[in-house]
Amino acid sequence: MDGSRTLAEPPPDASPARWQRLLAQAVRDPAELLRLLNLPADLLPPAAATAGFPLLVPRGFLARIERGNSNDPLLKQVLPAAAEALTVPGFAADPLAEHDACGRAGSSAVPGLLHKYRNRVLLVTTAACAVHCRYCFRRHFDYRTLPMGSAWWKPALAAIAADPAIDEVILSGGDPLTLPDAHLAALAADIRALPQIRRLRLHTRLPVVLPERIDNALLAWLAQPGPTPVVVIHANHPHEIATDVAAACQRLRGAGVLVLNQSVLLAGVNDRATTLAELSLKLFDAGVLPYYLHVLDRVAGAAHFLVDDDRAVALHRELAALLPGYLLPRLVREVAGEPSKRTLG
Ligand SMILES: *Cc1c(COP(=O)(O)O)cnc(C)c1O
Ligand code: SF4
Repeated sequence: MDGSRTLAEPPPDASPARWQRLLAQAVRDPAELLRLLNLPADLLPPAAATAGFPLLVPRGFLARIERGNSNDPLLKQVLPAAAEALTVPGFAADPLAEHDACGRAGSSAVPGLLHKYRNRVLLVTTAACAVHCRYCFRRHFDYRTLPMGSAWWKPALAAIAADPAIDEVILSGGDPLTLPDAHLAALAADIRALPQIRRLRLHTRLPVVLPERIDNALLAWLAQPGPTPVVVIHANHPHEIATDVAAACQRLRGAGVLVLNQSVLLAGVNDRATTLAELSLKLFDAGVLPYYLHVLDRVAGAAHFLVDDDRAVALHRELAALLPGYLLPRLVREVAGEPSKRTLG
């Protein structure tokens, strides 16, 4: 591989896959989004709300938003709001002194490697995502500090090999599935070559926002013999689980992948027990088990999504009464310096 190229670009000889063309066509212009959804132009976000973290929505996700409904729960996740520009006490640029919402984070001397929990490490593979979720705390993270050349993971894997307690590698970001399969296949092969690794996990929102990503080229490297593949998707509302999303999850399952879901509890989006119960049931029908329900990380610009702890615990108790135990996600918070996520309630 050519070390001068960045990871996000496909090799020059490869024609882009269908998912790459769809990603290139994602909506980036707020005015276009409002037009496509029959929404009034006065919803146009102020520039201050989008600075550094612009609107980004694949068209397939947009199709699941109800036209003319400015309160649509999927719209709220992606349309920049004026409230993002507010300064609210207790909401910081980097609330965990770390970063990222799909993957969470930690710190490490090796660039791109986050070793926070004893037996599992997280590799930050890319800065890119296929959607920009307005509540995400990666919005303030400076990914320019990441090494992006093709050889970046060699030192990370060397550090893993030097610590036999590590038996799971998590590919995170950004979103690892925005990377071309050739890069991911090479990385996965290097991870499989470490005999201590028993589980290879991906944290990704692509199966939900761009289900076309789950194609044969992806399954070819993911479903190889070796560490058990685990994919943790990220859906917050039952409307996100469209037919093609469910089919993508079933394809992963069919290839022997364990598929789990994590959500973030978001005011105005999914802060009702009946909504969360419906999400769990739809996930189950798609072959996905609910894993975590995260309380919001207090990141600047996301205060309007906050559900306070008392309300979160009460909601979770209500949810428990609506679901079999195996469909109840664990209500958790990320606390810097703790040996695992902290359970609430
Ligand atoms: C959340 C997280 C993990 C995964 O934790 P699980 O509880 O196993 O899902 C691993 N590493 C880091 C740095 C994390 O933030
Ligand atoms: S896909 Fe995940 S990492 Fe990317 S913006 Fe959304 S929550 Fe954040």
